Amino acid sequence: MHKVLIANRGEIAVRIARACNDAGLESVAVYADVDIDALHVRTADKAFGLGGNAPAETYLNIEKLVATADRSGADAVHPGYGFLSENADFAQAVLDAGLTWIGPLPKTIRELGNKVTARELAVRAGVPLVAGSDGPVRSAAEAKAFAEEHGLPIAIKAAFGGGGRGLKVVRDIETVEESFDSAVREAEAAFGRGECFVEKYLDRPRHVEAQILADNFGRVVVIGTRDCTLQRRNQKLVEEAPAPFLTPTQEETIHDAARAICREAGYRGAGTVEFLVSEAGDVAFLEVNTRLQVEHPVTEETYGVDLVLEQLSIAQGQPLLIEDGLQPLKHSLEFRINAEDVGRGFLPTPGTLTSLQVPTGPGVRFDSGVTNTSEVPPQFDSLIAKLVVTGSDRQQALRRARRALAELVIEGVPTVVPFHRAVVHAPQFCDSSSFKVHTRWIETEFQAEILPDPAYTPQPTTDQALRQLPLEIDGRRHMIGLPEQLLALLTPGTSSAICDEPQQADSGKADGTVESPMFGKVVKWLVTKGDEVAEGQPLLVLESMKMESQVPAPRAGTVEELAVAAGDDVRAGAQLATLA
Ligand code: ADP
Ligand code: ADP
Ligand code: MG
Repeated sequence: MHKVLIANRGEIAVRIARACNDAGLESVAVYADVDIDALHVRTADKAFGLGGNAPAETYLNIEKLVATADRSGADAVHPGYGFLSENADFAQAVLDAGLTWIGPLPKTIRELGNKVTARELAVRAGVPLVAGSDGPVRSAAEAKAFAEEHGLPIAIKAAFGGGGRGLKVVRDIETVEESFDSAVREAEAAFGRGECFVEKYLDRPRHVEAQILADNFGRVVVIGTRDCTLQRRNQKLVEEAPAPFLTPTQEETIHDAARAICREAGYRGAGTVEFLVSEAGDVAFLEVNTRLQVEHPVTEETYGVDLVLEQLSIAQGQPLLIEDGLQPLKHSLEFRINAEDVGRGFLPTPGTLTSLQVPTGPGVRFDSGVTNTSEVPPQFDSLIAKLVVTGSDRQQALRRARRALAELVIEGVPTVVPFHRAVVHAPQFCDSSSFKVHTRWIETEFQAEILPDPAYTPQPTTDQALRQLPLEIDGRRHMIGLPEQLLALLTPGTSSAICDEPQQADSGKADGTVESPMFGKVVKWLVTKGDEVAEGQPLLVLESMKMESQVPAPRAGTVEELAVAAGDDVRAGAQLATLA
């Protein structure tokens, strides 16, 4: 292995490029048009454009990525997390092209990526699970029968769900059938596969996971635990290692279960086995993520292991040299820095950074995908950086986190930093004798008055496309990609297209126009023409930066017109509907 193509963007692509450098390997970045000047492009040794901005045209495009690997002379591919990292077809395409795939075998990804077959494997491995249906549930009636037998609440889960999406909680027996049908429809739309299964829904659990590494010689080692209980919308926000306040028995159960599952799966590479720990203290298998995890740095900081270097070395066929049963030397916390406005319900807020001052000093690591002038494009998810703070124990890590979060300055886009500053003072989270938070704590109990960020105005997103033009240098034809904005400036009469005034979020209220608060895709309407709506009633669901948000009615009225349909892309300020 000499040259690694990194099929990803943002902070994880930067992280992998650095590891390649540390390992003496060359790195190749790929980029969407909007990312031409992104940090990951500058960090890698070489960078190749993929052409286009939509995920499907770029970081999700198997053909382009494999062709780019070939063109760049790369002999290996690292998929990072998200995007194609858990796509068995991509892994297979990479192998078929004669390249090294830095990850588990395609068949392992396929088996564990389907939550139903992963549960079956966990049963074979003798691992504890929450009660669930045997295999996919084929009808709404079957889902209801499960609820009648096992009691409520239940979770209806998409077999191919991920990223916190594809989970529906049902607490009322009357709505099980209806929820099941809509879960199947939503899974089809979001993941292309509608299969759903049913599980007992645990109230107030913790999320605890085990990091594993496995080589090609049958060695599987567990590198401790992480707690990822602080979530919103089933997506993690703050993680830590080791998972605090576990009993020795719980810890042993988690280690043994993780090891057993990876042995049963013939696992190789880095992976994570996720569990829920119920309020009563029972451990239950959740899923396996067959890739590097966002929160891998907290493990690195506490166990003294470089997980990306280990991935590279396993892919090169080296035996694992790490001993099983490593003890943590420290305690580490990770704060995901997402471009989201906490005061507007964690609304994703793409835009342009104008300032970034990174904290330093003992125990601070900042894994960033951005610089002080970066664009945060609306096409991709909202994670821009991760602040990782390490101390000799949990209390010292928390004190250092308060200091580091106070030093951190990010301007230009709202971020979740105000939430993090509040949470490191919340007694339930910071208590030194027990863990008083659970996976829905932020949504149900966390009390901190965080106001909408006054600096945020929805921006008409300039969809910075590159126009490819032929150019001749020394009698040879080359293609040059020029930003359309630049071309518009050079072409008289068209420049006005790029100086749209930012739309006022509330400009349409008086005449009943409902405007989009952000760039995104319409997921579905919650009302139809002719409906009477109250002020604040959710009208439709928009997806932006991989997150779904509801758009409320700006005032009461009758829905006169729906201006967009499910599947449409809308800009910030675009008309969505008219209320009479
Ligand atoms: P982790 O368990 O590593 O924290 P996450 O569940 O947060 O992983 O997902 C990792 C990344 O992948 C995130 O950027 C998330 O947005 C993205 N992601 C994972 N699965 C999906 C999916 N099915 N659809 C959209 N985004 C996904
Ligand atoms: P994803 O692939 O989206 O990460 P997971 O199965 O890992 O899906 O679940 C994500 C989160 O959803 C968990 O961390 C937890 O907060 C919640 N969750 C999932 N299943 C259950 C369950 N049966 N009971 C309670 N919470 C659950
Ligand atoms: Mg998960």
